[in-house]
Amino acid sequence: MKLDELKLEVDYFEFDEKLYQKLNATPLKNPKLVSFNQKACDLIGLDYKECETQEFLEFMNGTKILKGSVPYSMVYAGHQFGYFVPQLGDGRAINLGSINGWHLQTKGSGLTRYSRQGDGRAVLRSSIREYLVSEAMYALGIPTTRALAIIDSDSFAHREWNQESCSIVLRMSPSWIRIGTFEYFARTKQNAEKNLKQLANYVIKQSYPELENEENKYEKMFYSLVDRSAKLMALWQVYGFQHGVMNTDNFSMAGLTIDYGPYAFMDYFEKNSICNHTDVEGRYSYNNQPYVARWNLFVLLDCLKKICDETKLENYMKNYLSLHKKIYLDMMNKRVGLEVSKSGDSNLYLILELLGALESSKMDYNVFFYRLTNLKSFEDLSSILDIAVFQEPLKKWFESYKKVCLEQETTFESRFEIMKKVNPKYILKNYMLQEAIQKADEGDYWLVNELLNIALNPFDEHPDFERYAQPTPMKFANIKLSCSS
Ligand code: AMP
Ligand code: MG
Ligand code: MG
Repeated sequence: MKLDELKLEVDYFEFDEKLYQKLNATPLKNPKLVSFNQKACDLIGLDYKECETQEFLEFMNGTKILKGSVPYSMVYAGHQFGYFVPQLGDGRAINLGSINGWHLQTKGSGLTRYSRQGDGRAVLRSSIREYLVSEAMYALGIPTTRALAIIDSDSFAHREWNQESCSIVLRMSPSWIRIGTFEYFARTKQNAEKNLKQLANYVIKQSYPELENEENKYEKMFYSLVDRSAKLMALWQVYGFQHGVMNTDNFSMAGLTIDYGPYAFMDYFEKNSICNHTDVEGRYSYNNQPYVARWNLFVLLDCLKKICDETKLENYMKNYLSLHKKIYLDMMNKRVGLEVSKSGDSNLYLILELLGALESSKMDYNVFFYRLTNLKSFEDLSSILDIAVFQEPLKKWFESYKKVCLEQETTFESRFEIMKKVNPKYILKNYMLQEAIQKADEGDYWLVNELLNIALNPFDEHPDFERYAQPTPMKFANIKLSCSS
């Protein structure tokens, strides 16, 4: 469809008008296209050729409003690093309405009622990071919001000690409701219970439609989110992903990864790795993520007790960690070419021993699994040992692995068939993003577009980018990133 043929729907104005703001974007100077994503265009039925038009730039910049669209920002609250902040909200994001169940949102579109001390902008660096990782996560099968396009501009914003170029990323999601939205609604002075029920009904319609006609549907919504979150945390860890800012306002009610900031796919394996420079205590460290998600779910539970049976919710939470562990081990078995046996043997010790060996050998996490996939014999481990800083721990692990492989009567061929589906050749690491960002800052968007293709097809060969399938150069590995975006 042409841009002009798209028809958006807005369903948020059923809420009390204190819970959102209708507003228009503040346009950027001289908008320029950086990249568009054909896969995302398909999702909303937009002919991707439209993205090369002047009109598309105007649409991204907020000066062209699509049919049916009434732009608005939403208020929410949230716990940031454990501390409650009563009012946050879309401080730089503007919602445009939905199409095919995808809620479109431009991030970086200027000040809103919820901007607080911020400038309403998103710099090119952070927009590129969000744009590319959304698609990388999707391609790995990790639930996530998506991104359709980015524009750059001649407007500038101040970040730390730099002036950076302002940009806008068009994000889309089946839902933008966060735990923080419930936190805000639960504290509304009048009608908190009515507001909460209305919000829960909205979330159910959007993300849990199978529950619409169920009894105790608010409780069941909570249970489903607990299950989805357990799975999400497992998948993050399986691929070495760290979100970096798991505040309750960045925690999706639909079980998706949302609001990408100082995230990282870890380079070499480090259990307590912290990717966010401001996270001094490691609240959001790699290993802590499932526990923080549980903490966040308890914050939600506290809001929902006004409309649910609190004891039932608490009881359900008792399943969360064991469900997380089950999904994690299931996937980790696949990553080493094994399967959880019918008797339930999940090779727990082998996986734990591997994590220890990866850490003490300083091994590139995802490269390890790719090379294991392509291993042809236990006699020659050089493709793996050669990229370890210390070889002994991995040599020892391979003895255990070989034993398990023999006991479970698997072969290199059978393991390859399992591993090739879950171990990508390419992972979107921070140093790669940094290269693309540097070029883009100089006005060259080529690498952003190449990385988009790699992000969307991580299991394929990309002969011009063989170096990105190698271990991260040590000087760029496991670097902490700043929160400024
Ligand atoms: P985050 O942790 O990045 O998801 O953001 C936390 C809160 O700060 C959200 O309410 C954002 O909308 C808001 N925020 C972050 N950066 C800006 C900015 N540059 N201008 C206005 N609001 C911002
Ligand atoms: Mg956020
Ligand atoms: Mg952010």
